[in-house]
Amino acid sequence: MPSIFSKIIAGEVPCHKLAEDEHSFAFLDINPNAPGHALVVPKREVDRYFDLEDQELARLNQFAKKVARALEAVVPCQRVGVAIVGLEVPHAHVHLIPLRAMDDFHFNKPKPKPTHEELAQLADKIRQQFDRMP
Ligand code: AMP
Repeated sequence: MPSIFSKIIAGEVPCHKLAEDEHSFAFLDINPNAPGHALVVPKREVDRYFDLEDQELARLNQFAKKVARALEAVVPCQRVGVAIVGLEVPHAHVHLIPLRAMDDFHFNKPKPKPTHEELAQLADKIRQQFDRMP
């Protein structure tokens, strides 16, 4: 059975999409640690991040770099943090988290609860910024 992320990529489950290319897909985390928390996912469904082929890892990180630059331009933060977890969704993904403080890196802290409207507005801004980037 396809993962929830494969269903998102296929358009079968809605998401607040940020960007897409031939091999990778990015969208906002539905339960963000901090505003702008994004997930970057390879289109090929592989559970564990380090089971991706070297070329897939390289492509995913080049794509994630561009998403991170767009996040930094749009979301006030000190920098964008990167985390690989995968305890919830068995489809490799990179968390990009705009950090204002170390606490934003904690997945078990009380989290902001943005509305879908707020997520949609933020995703729009990030998507426009991504599309403007070289
Ligand atoms: P983990 O697998 O532990 O790296 O965590 C999976 C992440 O995916 C969590 O931060 C969830 O909030 C996020 N997530 C799960 N389902 C969705 C979804 N349908 N849309 C956006 N984010 C999701």
